[in-house]
Amino acid sequence: MKIISNSLGKQTKNSEIYNVGIIGGGISGVVTALSLDKEGIDSVLFEKKTSVVNGPPFCHLHAGGNLYPDISDEQCRKLMKQSIEMARLFPLSIDKRPTFISIPKPEKYEVDTIERRLKMLVVFYKKLINEDPGNEILGFPDAYYKKYNKEDLIALVERPIVKYPKSADEWMSNTMKLIDYKQLKTPVFIVQEYGWNLFRVGAQAKLALDKSEKCSLKTNTEITNIKDVRNQNLDYNWEIITNDTVYKIKYLVNSCGFKTGKIDELLHLNVRDLIEFKAAYISKWRTVSGLIPELIFHGERSTSHGMAQLTPYNGDYYQIHGMTKDITLFKNGLIESKGNEGQNEFDEAINRKLNSNWEESEIKSRTENAIKFISNFVPSFKSATVGGIPLYGAQQIPGEDPNLRVGEASFPRVFYARSEIVKASSALTVANQIINKINEEEGFSSIDNESKRNLLLDSISKKDIDKMASKLAIERGYPEAMSHLLIDRD
Ligand SMILES: Cc1cc2nc3c(=O)[nH]c(=O)nc-3n(C[C@H](O)[C@H](O)[C@H](O)COP(=O)(O)OP(=O)(O)OC[C@H]3O[C@@H](n4cnc5c(N)ncnc54)[C@H](O)[C@@H]3O)c2cc1C
Repeated sequence: MKIISNSLGKQTKNSEIYNVGIIGGGISGVVTALSLDKEGIDSVLFEKKTSVVNGPPFCHLHAGGNLYPDISDEQCRKLMKQSIEMARLFPLSIDKRPTFISIPKPEKYEVDTIERRLKMLVVFYKKLINEDPGNEILGFPDAYYKKYNKEDLIALVERPIVKYPKSADEWMSNTMKLIDYKQLKTPVFIVQEYGWNLFRVGAQAKLALDKSEKCSLKTNTEITNIKDVRNQNLDYNWEIITNDTVYKIKYLVNSCGFKTGKIDELLHLNVRDLIEFKAAYISKWRTVSGLIPELIFHGERSTSHGMAQLTPYNGDYYQIHGMTKDITLFKNGLIESKGNEGQNEFDEAINRKLNSNWEESEIKSRTENAIKFISNFVPSFKSATVGGIPLYGAQQIPGEDPNLRVGEASFPRVFYARSEIVKASSALTVANQIINKINEEEGFSSIDNESKRNLLLDSISKKDIDKMASKLAIERGYPEAMSHLLIDRD
């Protein structure tokens, strides 16, 4: 087993005993810390980078799983429920533009299957609203999706461009000005799956954590070792060790994302999972004069015709995913843990990118591949240019199924929880699972994860989120405009 650092002794012991120590300040760690704050439970949150929510990116609120034709209905329902919960926590990061879903003619997927699932989701969405009217954040349930046959599309071509579309027809008519619909199976769909701005989530979370009296946020702080003192009859169970300090912790939460296995390794645990490196590309494009929805052209993942996804951002920036090896996916980009070898590791080429060492030529060629890929369906998109550095990162997938899209918490030791989310939308569900377990093992009084509100997050003003999100975008090397929504919120 590899030990990250064994240099115990030179660190100072922090005298405070924290109820919970969370390692990793990605969306999972911050939502866990903010949920603990809501329950009145103190925590210390360690993040090795300079800011929180700075791991793999996210741009799409998967409120129904419509980007994944291969997943089960059950996963689609979970994604819808979890996405609604997260949108209620971070409403000012939700971009209320819909998603256009289509299947190119040569693809194996069937429009009937997509439509059957959409009908199922409408029923489920109504059920969620019945349980709690506050869940109605995706618009009226009967307008969750609208389907367009060939004749409908031809009729829409004649409509004028609408700068700020309001109805599904207006979104679709703007789309029709750009896409080559003859390549697509019909019907196609407009679905109320919205955009999700990661800079704004990071900003709101950071400002809320700064205000928290219960959570001590430690950025630029890497955990290098952990000592298990559960059998030593102390008032705490773990010593969490950084370069210069030892922290005493009762309950340990591992939210390290694709580095979850590193902490397992320190605890002599081997848990099977997958890790995957992916990237999305930023382009600049000026030809459209009205807003467009996110555009999805389904395709079989990992083939040369994998899904194409064009995500509009503020300021004429467009993010591109293409589920092929030349664009979003990478050679040796998906790897599984090998039995008892501890944390799985990417190869040198991927580690270099993970450490922000992309070569200019790689950025240019991958972004240009991405632009070309999209222009197969949106011919005028070929005039787009490279708009910035890629958004990239590695994520963890629990177990051995690369198609899994919802995450879970697991509890392989007493006083130890692992969070493994596949989509950012699972963060609150996993946080609640962890808090329930902490409550059970630590004997805290009953908790309030029924209420969907987090007063600390609610107390952060839009003005402050705007300011901090813009700072984070610039600090991370992205265009400032990408920190704003396409459709501003009140
Ligand atoms: C290209 C791409 C596109 C995606 N698009 C979407 C999308 O549109 N919608 C969606 O919902 N999801 C999307 N995802 C998935 C989403 O990004 C992840 O599910 C989510 O960000 C994972 O969050 P996390 O908190 O579990 O992990 P992370 O964000 O990876 O956080 C883990 C944190 O732990 C820190 N850390 C690790 N080790 C240590 C240590 N020893 N000490 C201190 N800190 C440590 C890391 O620095 C990191 O900040 C996408 C993923 C990728 C790669």
